[in-house]
Amino acid sequence: MKILVAVKRAIDYNVKARPKSDGTGVDLANVKMSMNPFDEIAVEEALRLQEAGKATEIVALSIGPAACQETLRTAMAMGADRGILVQTDGEVQPLAVAKLIKALVDKEQPGMVILGKQAIDDDSNQTGQMLAGLLGWSIGTFAARVEVGEGHVKVAREVDGGIQTIDLKLPAIVTADLRLNEPRYVKLPNIMKAKKKPLDIVSPADLGVDITPRLKLVKVSEPAARAGGVKVADVAELVAKLRSEAKVI
Ligand code: AMP
Repeated sequence: MKILVAVKRAIDYNVKARPKSDGTGVDLANVKMSMNPFDEIAVEEALRLQEAGKATEIVALSIGPAACQETLRTAMAMGADRGILVQTDGEVQPLAVAKLIKALVDKEQPGMVILGKQAIDDDSNQTGQMLAGLLGWSIGTFAARVEVGEGHVKVAREVDGGIQTIDLKLPAIVTADLRLNEPRYVKLPNIMKAKKKPLDIVSPADLGVDITPRLKLVKVSEPAARAGGVKVADVAELVAKLRSEAKVI
């Protein structure tokens, strides 16, 4: 079984995102970019399935500017066999990403597609679900455990009340949650090896997909600043404040 893994080049999780001064988006000038953390988990899971003999080939894909080649090289340094970049400089919203991935699925015929549960830049949490809709495939979102069997996959999902286990017919889509695994560190020799792995570059037009944005971003702003805290002398004062000021008891 071939596995496709979607890896997005996103703002590094250690960087504090700041809105542009005119509120038209997040300021990405001179900001460190890395692989979306949930996508590292997705790559790791695909590699573990390959190591367990459940997958034959791992293909990483990314959609975005030429710099996404770096993200694909990281996925290949982790162990992915090859990479596909759908190169475009414009904004690509989740529906367009899902359509592009569907076009690659039609071409590559994988048995499973693993994505992150969400990209930490737009926090959309939409792409995997939309892809499942477009393909008519089953999906296990927020995966905390994945077990591939003959023609099906069991996915344990993190839901509010605990863990829900579902059984999906393959081919299927899985979106990775935080506790699915701990991604491996990339070793230097593997970075060198990854440079020699195949990386194909295609355009959205090659795949016949119109990526014109459908949604208009109205405004990006910082959350309201929190008021400072106060120290109380004793429990009686705390209770009084909770009652008269915070009005929560
Ligand atoms: P989102 O729906 O934007 O929160 O993204 C969910 C997941 O879809 C991400 O974790 C990635 O696995 C995948 N994805 C979204 N955008 C891209 C992109 N431009 N390139 C590759 N994968 C993407």
